[in-house]
Amino acid sequence: MRYYTKEGALLLRGLAFAAGTDLPPGGAAVRSFLFAPVPPACPAMPAVELAARRAGLDSASTAGLPVSVDVNRAVVTQYDGAIAFALADRDRVILVAWTPFSVPPGEVGTLLEGLRRSCPVPPGALVLASDAGGPGLCTGPLFEAGAAAVAEALARRDRAATAPAFLIYSRFGGGHWVEWSPEACPYYPCHHLEGQRCDHCYCPFYPCRDPSLGDEVVSSTSGAVWNCSRCTLLHLPVVADHLNRNPMASLAELKRVASRR
Ligand code: SF4
Repeated sequence: MRYYTKEGALLLRGLAFAAGTDLPPGGAAVRSFLFAPVPPACPAMPAVELAARRAGLDSASTAGLPVSVDVNRAVVTQYDGAIAFALADRDRVILVAWTPFSVPPGEVGTLLEGLRRSCPVPPGALVLASDAGGPGLCTGPLFEAGAAAVAEALARRDRAATAPAFLIYSRFGGGHWVEWSPEACPYYPCHHLEGQRCDHCYCPFYPCRDPSLGDEVVSSTSGAVWNCSRCTLLHLPVVADHLNRNPMASLAELKRVASRR
């Protein structure tokens, strides 16, 4: 899954499945999910379809929810491999919880209910999205990410923003949420690279498991983890620019771009 904003919408792309609000019972095969802005004066076309067309997406494989507020007010939370997106719209909170793992068909309802119950306020619209990457789904990270996203979206509901906020769960110094922004990163320049760019930190490919870029290491707290400390690929200006222009570029494509410098 990749996410980014475009034409006033927040796009989640590269999905395989979504279930929940405005989707068929049991879910549906979808490739993209949109937080779609309601156009002020275009009642002729539904907001999601219009946003899909504007983003150049196939509307038949795109699902979404209309939103009335700036999608830059959305909050994105990451807990281990799970990512949640929440936006406090005018009269409801929208939550989309994503997992890279497959969602067993018989567990969709239980997962949606678990997500709803774990939130500090029940979301007015709730979607479970998945890349269907195989078995391994853990509900803990999914619920934690969802609850934190809703809490933060409510806390920031009247705050203007120029990009969605990003918070990640850290275990350093005790478990806690950390807000990360490229402008105020305490680790900059983490890779000591001339002209280092940070547009795509945290890396959308994580964990890529490409041995030419990173290493599998054993962590004292959570077993084997993918370590990116020697990877500079997405920090290269030419690669960051390419990914900004082509948000769905593959890792192989970015490595080719880097090799042509
Ligand atoms: S090694 Fe590089 S490309 Fe791979 S996940 Fe880490 S930062 Fe991303």
